[in-house]
Amino acid sequence: MRLIAVSKTFGAAAVVAAARCGQHDFGENYVQEALDKAAQLRALAPELELTWHFIGPIQSNKTRALAAHFDWVQSVDRLKIAQRLSEQRSEERPPLNVLLQVNISGEASKSGAAPDEVPALAASIAALPRLRLRGLMAIPAPTTDPRQQRAAFARLRGLFDELRAGGLRLDTLSMGMSDDLEAAIAEGSTMVRIGTAIFGARR
Ligand SMILES: *Cc1c(COP(=O)(O)O)cnc(C)c1O
Repeated sequence: MRLIAVSKTFGAAAVVAAARCGQHDFGENYVQEALDKAAQLRALAPELELTWHFIGPIQSNKTRALAAHFDWVQSVDRLKIAQRLSEQRSEERPPLNVLLQVNISGEASKSGAAPDEVPALAASIAALPRLRLRGLMAIPAPTTDPRQQRAAFARLRGLFDELRAGGLRLDTLSMGMSDDLEAAIAEGSTMVRIGTAIFGARR
């Protein structure tokens, strides 16, 4: 299980404190906030070598910054964004790890690809030269009912298994946040993204 500490809205000092406890992977939602924090961290604790995951909605004018400054982008949900990230990822860096975000609860307002688009989209993204498609990510509709939580995660897991059976070499199922991580883990999550339960409530 890989734990992503979601540090959005918390400052560089909170990241340093978590890193000194052994935390290595951090998640951010806003590009400018992430770049400012990374600059502060280089001044505050230059010895830290952290892995950064972008987990927020992606505007196409931000892909260059994402390709330059992140190790993983978990919120890819359309081919145009994936193509830009691949074109903009430097040859000097390893391929950018990406996850395809799925709108698993079918909420009209949410980002994420529709489940029935996922097989074709995953195949197209996996073929891009400077990306490495590692798996799927989802943020299900919030509910406190553990059975409904598990049902949504089981649907994502089903899609993941289908893609792997179809020959894609995927190893990452990013599902589970502070309020539903138990259900996500019970359904086979390999990566949880935790903010509140690590850093406290966001202001
Ligand atoms: C904010 C956020 C999280 C963390 O949420 P918590 O409920 O604070 O654990 C996880 N994933 C995504 C995509 C987020 O935007």
